[in-house]
Amino acid sequence: MKHYDVAVIGLGIVGASAAYAAAWAGARVLALDAGTPGGGTSGTSFAWLNSVKKEPDVYHRLNAAGMTAHRELSRELGGEAGYHDGGSLEWAEGDDEERELRERVVRLAGRGYPAEWISRERAAAMEAGLAIPDRVQEVAFFAADAWLDAPRLIGRLLAAAAARGADVRDRTAVTLRARGDRVETLAGDSGEVRAESILVWTRAAACCSAPRTSTRSPRAPTRQRC
Ligand SMILES: Cc1cc2nc3c(=O)[nH]c(=O)nc-3n(C[C@H](O)[C@H](O)[C@H](O)COP(=O)(O)OP(=O)(O)OC[C@H]3O[C@@H](n4cnc5c(N)ncnc54)[C@H](O)[C@@H]3O)c2cc1C
Repeated sequence: MKHYDVAVIGLGIVGASAAYAAAWAGARVLALDAGTPGGGTSGTSFAWLNSVKKEPDVYHRLNAAGMTAHRELSRELGGEAGYHDGGSLEWAEGDDEERELRERVVRLAGRGYPAEWISRERAAAMEAGLAIPDRVQEVAFFAADAWLDAPRLIGRLLAAAAARGADVRDRTAVTLRARGDRVETLAGDSGEVRAESILVWTRAAACCSAPRTSTRSPRAPTRQRC
């Protein structure tokens, strides 16, 4: 039976990040997904990297740190790793909404987060397809915001993990078997394997069927909550 230091089950953005980080740290890694890596939630969502409406301040800073981590990860992976910068634009149409947005831009800029007002003409030049209402003369611009092509990033993370020796397998649904008070054997389509640590990143469904499993996430980039 083959032995690994770390087995990662579920290769969405979280599991793929964990597999990459563990392989990068020198662990012998087994990475398994029941279907196609990135074929779960990570492949269906628009991954907007931002911290424009994350309160209180400590949560704002956590999200901003996640944005920085994604920029650094993209540089570390090199080439096209699914990170797209360019910022985001926002305007308000009602008086209350505009007051809230103006207060927010001041608050974010005061925290050092790139937040400013630009003319509607400049916003329209950035995004030709925008239908900015006539009454809106200024648009808030958050220059540090970005979006992720999550399936592409997952592919790059797993390729980089494999290049460092990780054993990456798709179409391998996993069940966990307990030995005494520990879960130490994984059963996949290709038989049983053993790992010192088992990281389960399959979202709610498999977490419930994997009691006693400890999860750790070394160097997994912080994700932004919607
Ligand atoms: C509409 C929408 C919009 C969103 N927008 C944003 C956003 O703008 N910014 C943001 O940061 N987040 C956003 N999110 C949230 C974000 O997409 C998720 O938090 C994230 O993708 C979850 O990743 P994951 O790796 O935990 O799970 P998943 O991507 O679901 O990966 C789980 C993997 O586990 C595998 N699996 C399941 N069971 C087993 C098993 N028994 N054995 C082996 N493998 C198994 C699955 O095949 C799957 O590949 C959005 C989500 C949605 C739905």
